[in-house]
Amino acid sequence: MKLKERLYRFRSFWIFPLLAVLLLYVTFRSETQAGLLNLVWLFPLGLLIWSLLEYGLHRFVFHIRFKVQNPRLRDVLNASHLSHHAAPRDPTKLLVDPVYGLAISAALFGLLLIAFGDAARAVGAMVGVWAGFLYYEAVHYRVHMNLPGSGLIAWQRRAHFYHHFTNRDRCFGVTTPVWDYVFRTELPRSRR
Ligand SMILES: [Zn+2]
Ligand SMILES: [Zn+2]
Repeated sequence: MKLKERLYRFRSFWIFPLLAVLLLYVTFRSETQAGLLNLVWLFPLGLLIWSLLEYGLHRFVFHIRFKVQNPRLRDVLNASHLSHHAAPRDPTKLLVDPVYGLAISAALFGLLLIAFGDAARAVGAMVGVWAGFLYYEAVHYRVHMNLPGSGLIAWQRRAHFYHHFTNRDRCFGVTTPVWDYVFRTELPRSRR
C-alpha cells in the first residue's frame, strides 16, 4: 500500500492525536501543576467512558438499518457497520469514518463540559476516550486483517468472530468483554 493510501485509510490515527495535542496545549497551558495532575484520573476515566461507548454504540446504534435513501448517509449513520458485516474482510469498510468519530466526539465533549464545568477537565477525559477509540480501531483491524495470533488478540478474535458469524446479539465489546459480562451478552462458555 502506498504511503498516501495508508495515510488516508488510517487517518483517524493522526487526526485524533493531533487534535488531542492541540486541545491539551490550549487548555492546559495555563494550568497549575495540581491541574495537570488531574490527567492521572481523567485519562483512565476517558478509557472507561470509551469502553461503554464501544459496547453501547455497537449494540444499540451500529446495527440499526436507518431508513434513509442516500447510501452514503446510511453508512455514516451506522458507521458503515452493516456494510462491514456484509464484507468483513473489506479494509475500506472496517474503520470508522472520522466524520462520525468527530460528530460523536463533539456531542460527548459538550456533555463532559456540562458535567465538569471546566474545559481542561473535559479535554483530559476526551483524550482518554480517543486513546480507547484508537485502540479499538487497531484491534478491530488486526482481528479481521491479520493472521490468527495468540494470547489477547486471539481471544478478541474468537469473541468478535462469534459476533460476526454465529450470533449478532452477542459479544458487542471488541477490545474488552467487561460490558458483555455486565449486560449478559458474553461469549457462551462452550466457545471460550
Ligand atoms: Zn456488529
Ligand atoms: Zn468486525
